[in-house]
Order: sequence, then C-alpha cells, then structure tokens
Amino acid sequence: MYTSLISKYSPEFLKENEALSLHSSFKIGGPADIFLTPDSPALLQEMINFIQTKQLRFMVMGGGNNLLFSDEGFRGVIISTDKLNALTLEENIVTAQCGVSLWDLTAFSCDNSLSGLEFASGIPGSVGGAVFMNAGAYGGEMKDVIISVDFLDHDNQVRNHGLTGHNFSYRTSLYQQRNYLVLQAKFQLTPQNKEEIKAQMKDLQQRRESKQPLEYPSAGSVFRRPEGHFVGKLIDDCGLRGFSIGDAQISDKHSGFIINKGHARSQDVKNLIKHIQEIVKCKFGVELHTEIRIIEN
Ligand SMILES: Cc1cc2nc3c(=O)[nH]c(=O)nc-3n(C[C@H](O)[C@H](O)[C@H](O)COP(=O)(O)OP(=O)(O)OC[C@H]3O[C@@H](n4cnc5c(N)ncnc54)[C@H](O)[C@@H]3O)c2cc1C
Repeated sequence: MYTSLISKYSPEFLKENEALSLHSSFKIGGPADIFLTPDSPALLQEMINFIQTKQLRFMVMGGGNNLLFSDEGFRGVIISTDKLNALTLEENIVTAQCGVSLWDLTAFSCDNSLSGLEFASGIPGSVGGAVFMNAGAYGGEMKDVIISVDFLDHDNQVRNHGLTGHNFSYRTSLYQQRNYLVLQAKFQLTPQNKEEIKAQMKDLQQRRESKQPLEYPSAGSVFRRPEGHFVGKLIDDCGLRGFSIGDAQISDKHSGFIINKGHARSQDVKNLIKHIQEIVKCKFGVELHTEIRIIEN
C-alpha cells in the first residue's frame, strides 16, 4: 500500500511504524504506518499531492500536545510539521511557519522587544496547532495578534486570509472547522521594554507551574469549558479528584487535567473521560465535551 511512498522519500523524511507515544505529550500511542517530516512548504505540498493521488488516509500534527492517539497507532500517514520552523521579523510583524514552537515564537518576540504574545509563552505546541485551536491563556488568544494566515485548502492550493475570515472563537477556527492545513501565520506585535515582557512571561510561567501538573505527561485541559461552569469544580464536586483508571488519573493538582502516571493506555484515558462525563451529567446535568482530540487508529 505504501511501497511507492516509501521508495519516493528517504529516511530523512519518512519513517515506517513510528511510535506515536514519542510525539505525544501524553506519551501514549502505538505506531503510525508512515510518519513524514517535510522540511519545506513545497515538499509538504508535494507529499500531500502524492498521498491524495494514492488516496491514502493522512493527518497533520504539530507538537502533539492536544492529541490522544490510539494504543493501536494510526493506519495511514502522519505528517509532522516539526521541520517547518522558519521565523522572521519585519517591522513589528513576526512571521512563523506552522512548525515553530510557541516557546521559540515567544522567546523570539521577547528578544526583539515585542509584546503581544506573552500569554502564549507557557502553552506547549506549534504555531499551526495553536492557530487551529485558537489557543489561549490568561486573557489572551491567538486571534488577538494574528493578522494573516497562509493555508492549504482541500485541493492542496495555497490560500490566505488577512485580518478577517479566520472564524476564531473559543478553541476553534476556520482551519479546524474546514480541516485546512495552516502553513504560516503573521503576528502583529507592539514594541515594549524587553525586561517587562520577560517579567510578564516569567510570572505567567510560575502561575502555570503552581497550578498545573507539569511534572506528568498530559494533554492539558481535557474538556472544553461549559457555559457558566468550571470543569475542575464540577469534577471536584463529584468527588473525582485523584480518581484513576489504570495509570490514567484525574490530577489531584488540577482536576481538569488527566495525567499519565507511567504506563497509561489510550483506552484507560478514554474510559476515564467517559466516566467523568457520565458522573458530571448525572449529578449536575452538564455535558462535558472534549477539548483534546481523540485520534482513532
Ligand atoms: C501541559 C499543557 C498545558 C496546556 N495549556 C494550554 C493552554 O493554556 N491553552 C491552550 O489553548 N491550550 C493548552 N494546551 C493544549 C495545547 O498546548 C494546544 O492545543 C496547542 O495549540 C496544541 O498545539 P500542537 O502543535 O501541539 O497541536 P497538536 O496537538 O499536534 O494538534 C492539535 C490539532 O491541531 C491540528 N494541527 C496541528 N498543526 C496543524 C497545522 N499546521 N494545520 C492544521 N492543523 C494542524 C492537528 O491535526 C490536531 O487536530 C496545553 C497542553 C498541555 C500538554
């Protein structure tokens, strides 16, 4: 099934049976049949063209910080944006390819005395994943600073949205709604004293460390915030703080997180999610929907 793909790309860009646990912040996931790592947008486009011609199943991933892969892995092709990491600055506008980590993006902005992305400094992930999810924290969201996104549509054509058209709202975007591939984004930032930016980033990082179980593998908040409620409080009020199935545990530091205590299986996490949803629905009548994306094999 993959013979032509395997003969077309060298091991530098293609791996067979790559363990997805190595690419997921949960440290969970069996092998992907094929794992591709293009190092330019042109190569990415060429690969997708080839995959579409062969009618192979594929998905794109960034840092793997919002994903729960299956224990059985992924039957198809995973395209990682990890090597698409160019970062440039013109006037006060930073342009970042989809694979740039938020860590590098925020550090680069800070080094250039540019403010606006401080909120994102502790969010793990790539620019592509963050645009797709409209990632946000501490009152800021991607939508506040993005002024342009280049993306690939379903015909594998490069398109652009400028100031409008992104359809951003709470943890969603046009790119998620339409399953478009984010190639790069431009961020409009504001000059500010570097030390002030650094201090703000440090403060937010410390707040994160004190509240979140960063010492364990996880995928961040498991559920979307339901209207009028706090997920952590709902879970606490059901007496579920610290509850576990196998090695998947509701963090006793932050009940909105499920952590992997060591050898959690994807099925343990899924069972725990279902259990939480059932108990919260039964006790409070509130439906919890997952923010993390569960990928079937
Ligand atoms: C400890 C921890 C704390 C977190 N805190 C926060 C937080 O404060 N705020 C917040 O919003 N999130 C938070 N998250 C979740 C996560 O960091 C964000 O959702 C982030 O945006 C995911 O980026 P990623 O590159 O890892 O995406 P991935 O997990 O790789 O992918 C997520 C989704 O985006 C899609 N995707 C990835 N790249 C692209 C692309 N180039 N084009 C199109 N689609 C793409 C994937 O197909 C997938 O559906 C946290 C996660 C962890 C583990």
